[in-house]
Amino acid sequence: MNLIILGAPGAGKGTLSDALVKEIKIPKISTGDMLRKEVKDNTPLGLKAKEIMTKGALVPDAIINELLKNRIKKSDCKNGFMLDGFPRTINQAEELDKIMKELALKIDLVVNLVISEEIIVKRLTNRRVCKKCGANYNLVSLPSKKEGICDLDGGELYQRADDNETTIRNRLQVYAKDTQPLIDYYAKKGLLQDVIAEKGISDMVVKFKKIVADKKLK
Ligand code: AMP
Ligand code: ZN
Repeated sequence: MNLIILGAPGAGKGTLSDALVKEIKIPKISTGDMLRKEVKDNTPLGLKAKEIMTKGALVPDAIINELLKNRIKKSDCKNGFMLDGFPRTINQAEELDKIMKELALKIDLVVNLVISEEIIVKRLTNRRVCKKCGANYNLVSLPSKKEGICDLDGGELYQRADDNETTIRNRLQVYAKDTQPLIDYYAKKGLLQDVIAEKGISDMVVKFKKIVADKKLK
């Protein structure tokens, strides 16, 4: 199954895709994670992306499209993949259509996570991420067993540089302007399924499984 997970920042795309990786055994492709790695490794791309990400703006389409194209071509994607944080603009969605056509593949499903802005801001300011494995936690709704330590690998938890209130507001504006039009784009293709994302991760997984069963996807 080739799956796209859409939703505002903080809707739970990362948390849902991490949970689904365990269920359906296809890789998660997160352009945000890929960029954060470039930043951490001080690569030329990382140096360019750092400032853009800190402001909560979008990295240029040409760079992201190239990054994604190279990733999808890797052999671990041949039985399917899930996209978390891509596409984020109509240009990226159109480029993805082109790449999929070239590879004789198609998108099977687009899950749109629906959530109110008020909950998003609360979630993002309380989000903590593992330095080692990237797992997401939340101080209120999904705390680690030991404060500041990842349950999975003992990695240290940190707060993302873009999870502060000013940058969050900016990311939400960028989302409304550039990314929200994708909801219509995929609805018109008959691929979009809304999932309410306010009740927590197990509820989202149940809803997701029902959609996949109803659509007889594999
Ligand atoms: P995320 O981890 O998906 O919230 O992404 C964090 C930041 O990385 C975003 O605020 C953007 O600056 C950048 N980024 C991630 N994915 C994309 C994308 N598909 N297009 C442009 N910028 C992106
Ligand atoms: Zn970890």
